[in-house]
Amino acid sequence: MHVIVVGAGIGGLATAAGLQRAGTRVTVLERAPGARVVGSGLSLFGNGLTALDVLGLGDAARAATGPGHRLLAGQRRPDGSWLSRTPPDAVRRLRVVHRADLHRLLEDALAPGTVHWGCEVTGVDDDGTVRLRDGAERADVVVAADGIRSRVRAGWPGDPGLRYAGYTAWRGVTAVPVDLRGAAGETWGRGLRFGMAPLADGRVYWFAVASAPAGGRADDEHAAVAHLFAGWHEPVGELLAATRPADVSRSDVHDLAGPMPSLRRGRVVLLGDAAHAMTPDLGQGANQALEDAATLTALLSGGGPGLDPDEALDRYDRLRRPRVRRIARRARAVGRVAQARGSVTSRVRDTVLRLTPPSAAGRQLAAVEAWALPHA
Ligand SMILES: Cc1cc2nc3c(=O)[nH]c(=O)nc-3n(C[C@H](O)[C@H](O)[C@H](O)COP(=O)(O)OP(=O)(O)OC[C@H]3O[C@@H](n4cnc5c(N)ncnc54)[C@H](O)[C@@H]3O)c2cc1C
Repeated sequence: MHVIVVGAGIGGLATAAGLQRAGTRVTVLERAPGARVVGSGLSLFGNGLTALDVLGLGDAARAATGPGHRLLAGQRRPDGSWLSRTPPDAVRRLRVVHRADLHRLLEDALAPGTVHWGCEVTGVDDDGTVRLRDGAERADVVVAADGIRSRVRAGWPGDPGLRYAGYTAWRGVTAVPVDLRGAAGETWGRGLRFGMAPLADGRVYWFAVASAPAGGRADDEHAAVAHLFAGWHEPVGELLAATRPADVSRSDVHDLAGPMPSLRRGRVVLLGDAAHAMTPDLGQGANQALEDAATLTALLSGGGPGLDPDEALDRYDRLRRPRVRRIARRARAVGRVAQARGSVTSRVRDTVLRLTPPSAAGRQLAAVEAWALPHA
């Protein structure tokens, strides 16, 4: 069997690595001219690590992310007082990785020459024909992992398209370690949010979110964040001061405007953001892409010859669609609450958070992390 994967993002690379390890012939077509080392941090939850274990990459990921930090997590107010604390045990499995390190780890798992850089896919037919600018290739199965603005998905009936979530996000990683004083997590203001999480080497991944019209840009994004979050509790200011302006990126937050009616069409499946782009409010986008990759690998080639491709792709659709739909819906709901702007709505939100027992937040997270490869 020959599988073509469109897109060398986290989802595409993980799928290719899993399939190749199981003995399947894989080609990855990526439009970028070469490997990227851009990006900031990424939360890997227990479910993402379980998926990496299925793909044979769990140990490498754990080695890259270290033993984790025992920190108090939860939500704070801009003055630093706690609204809600998540017990350290609930975030015991969480690891934060630099996106570039995860990409490198996945690429290193592939045989040299697997990724064809500078190959832009212009269309995919249901029979597995992949059209390129200068020709076409045919595969038994095509995995469209071409991201939130997937060209493959755009050609399918029922594509709901993207919707703007109403907020824009900045991300950065400090150039040097910063002392988080035993606490991480998010701080919620009115229409503003700041989050922080340590990498294995003590540098800190942070993100800042502001409710704003889509398409806004500042000449100096680093200064724009510093201005918006001036006066917030430390170490917010320290984190910004420790970050090089060139290491701050900004993107408007979009998700799929609704669930896809099917993740399969003929010999083609959607995977990762192409299938279920979600808002980052649960930190689950890449984790779900890894679950997709592990599931598809197991169905196509797990422990032997695997299933007949048609049956495998059908099962992939049936197994993945309900879960990603639930998580995407929850992510959006969390984002809506977290970005509350009105004085009354944000006060009500804060009161509810203060009254919610810490164990409840822990239970919600445990439910998402409790993923295991379903029996096909
Ligand atoms: C602010 C923010 C914070 C986030 N934080 C987290 C987090 O903490 N944890 C988490 O799990 N997720 C997080 N996410 C989500 C996560 O980044 C994505 O879900 C994940 O990167 C999706 O991976 P992917 O492989 O599906 O797509 P991508 O990483 O977008 O990769 C798609 C690839 O396809 C290529 N491509 C596109 N079109 C073509 C074409 N026509 N031909 C060939 N190649 C093509 C692209 O160049 C790209 O390399 C966050 C997202 C945002 C916006």
